[in-house]
Amino acid sequence: MIYLDHAAATPVSAKALKAMEPYFATEFFNPSAAYLPAKKVAADYEAAKDTIAHAVGAKGTDLVITAGATEANNLAFTAVAQHNYGKDEVLYLETEHDSVRAVAQRYGGKAIRVLSSGLINLNDLKTKITDETKLISVSLANNELGTIQPLAEVAAIIKEIKIDRYKRGIKKPLYLHSDASQALNLLDINVARLGVDMLTISSAKIYGPKGIGALYVSHGVKLSPLTLGGGQEKGLRSGTENVPGVIGFATAAKEAKEHLNGNRKKYKDLKRILLSGLQGYELINKKHTLDNFIVLCYNGVDAERLIYLLEDREIYVATGAACAASKGQKSHVLTAIGLNNSQIAGSLRLTLGETNTAEQIHEAARIINETVAAERKRING
Ligand code: PMP
Repeated sequence: MIYLDHAAATPVSAKALKAMEPYFATEFFNPSAAYLPAKKVAADYEAAKDTIAHAVGAKGTDLVITAGATEANNLAFTAVAQHNYGKDEVLYLETEHDSVRAVAQRYGGKAIRVLSSGLINLNDLKTKITDETKLISVSLANNELGTIQPLAEVAAIIKEIKIDRYKRGIKKPLYLHSDASQALNLLDINVARLGVDMLTISSAKIYGPKGIGALYVSHGVKLSPLTLGGGQEKGLRSGTENVPGVIGFATAAKEAKEHLNGNRKKYKDLKRILLSGLQGYELINKKHTLDNFIVLCYNGVDAERLIYLLEDREIYVATGAACAASKGQKSHVLTAIGLNNSQIAGSLRLTLGETNTAEQIHEAARIINETVAAERKRING
């Protein structure tokens, strides 16, 4: 099999799997229990949170552990529900993952436009910020195109607005949240350098277990819990801690840091091999994109059919976000960057990862070329 869908899921690394194992059966204790073995588990849990936080230049105490990126994104938006300074407005980038879009829309959020490059339209951002704006959500890297947003520039705009508000005696806070789920193992992330108030990270895309993620929350940001109960995670996320999950996430986060430069070089090389080996395509995500993301358009061909035809040859690719694909919806991301219906229908997302080798990529290029050529022949009768 040649797996080219690492943006949808990554296998758990051998190290992460091994690190997690003891916490399922022998070190199973509830971290909140009073006896010594449980206190040791609690200490391991906190140390693992520190390791995860260090991967983004933060401290373990700045993180709220969640059951993945979706929950972390939802939690970030509870900053809006604090009705202490009048009406709150929310802005979000139109190409966000549905776990941001859906919750932003629930709060009546306004979409910030992107340019045809997929990058945020900073002028649109500036015109949409009002004195009521409380939260702006802009992902670090898009999950369909891999587009890396200029977050530091967004943060600089927000900083100017905050200074201006302060001078005018407006007390409403203005927060920047970013969903970095796709980027943790592909970019060198530091919360201070990015200038974010909240950052979503996820284990599932970095060779850690699924169902575990975190929200980095800077000091002073007030959130409300989505779950009430035993008061774990400083009251922001009640429920017995997922100790094996956090241990696996920490191991994967540490490995992500160690492998970052090597992997980026590897993906650049593999991308070059793939793009020079493939024929008859249009490259959609030409610039400002994660090293492992390749979005191709085969005009006039139905990419959904290509997925199934390639599956028969044991090559696994995607058309866009896995969740959107399963609902059969037209990609809001490809629409937002101005692709027409025929281009959208013909677009394939290939995401490279640690499982790939140069031999696989040569082989994949050959089989994709054959498959597309056969499809074109069939269509043209
Ligand atoms: N945000 C982004 C950018 C993603 O790619 C994903 C996963 N496709 C999510 C959020 C949701 O992650 P999860 O399903 O693990 O909660």
